[in-house]
Amino acid sequence: MGYCLKFIRLAQKKTPKVSPNASRMLSTIDHALARLAQAQLYPDELALLNCSTRCEKDLKSSPLKWLKPFMCENGLIRVGGRLSNSDLPEGTKHPIVVSANHPLAEIIVTYYHKLLLHAGPQLMLSTIRQKYWIIGARNLVRRVYHRCIKCFRQKPILIQQATADLPKSRVSPSRPFSVSGVDYCGPVYLKSAVRRHGPVKAYIAIFVCFATKAVHIELVSDLSTPAFL
Ligand SMILES: [Zn+2]
Repeated sequence: MGYCLKFIRLAQKKTPKVSPNASRMLSTIDHALARLAQAQLYPDELALLNCSTRCEKDLKSSPLKWLKPFMCENGLIRVGGRLSNSDLPEGTKHPIVVSANHPLAEIIVTYYHKLLLHAGPQLMLSTIRQKYWIIGARNLVRRVYHRCIKCFRQKPILIQQATADLPKSRVSPSRPFSVSGVDYCGPVYLKSAVRRHGPVKAYIAIFVCFATKAVHIELVSDLSTPAFL
């Protein structure tokens, strides 16, 4: 793309006095690609935004209507958004609109995935949004991430600890509650027996039979040993 743009510039004999540096060149390429994608994706919106006598109602049926789109001086549709008053760079305040259905969106996401050293979906998404607003980005980012072979191979597997055998009392028949477990739950608040007294804290003791899983429930007034006994 860079060579194509360079050829066009030379053919038009519009050679600037200082040749553009690499980063300027890259941003020119980015803009040219985004312009091509937007021309394919949103021809009606481009025509509308280019027209000076447009009104908000015209975008009613457009998928971009929530983004408050506008056209920047480079001829790109950008997100209007609500960040106009922030100190962020101009490109971050008003990112370039692209749809996830366009091949360019996938190229952008793949590029950022590699640029960020195989980052996860969250980091990719937040970094991409500093420059591009991809409609339907979340699914695309996840798809690119899951398709990446390097990420798939590096993915660690959680080791599952093998659980031990159940104790004898849990697996052999016996009278109910001959062996049982106990636990407290709560606290719960009880209405006081004394009038004009606030609610009283209490706990619930749950006895579970080991053999049958039958449950016995008792109310306990506090966490002391006498109350438990
Ligand atoms: Zn990866």
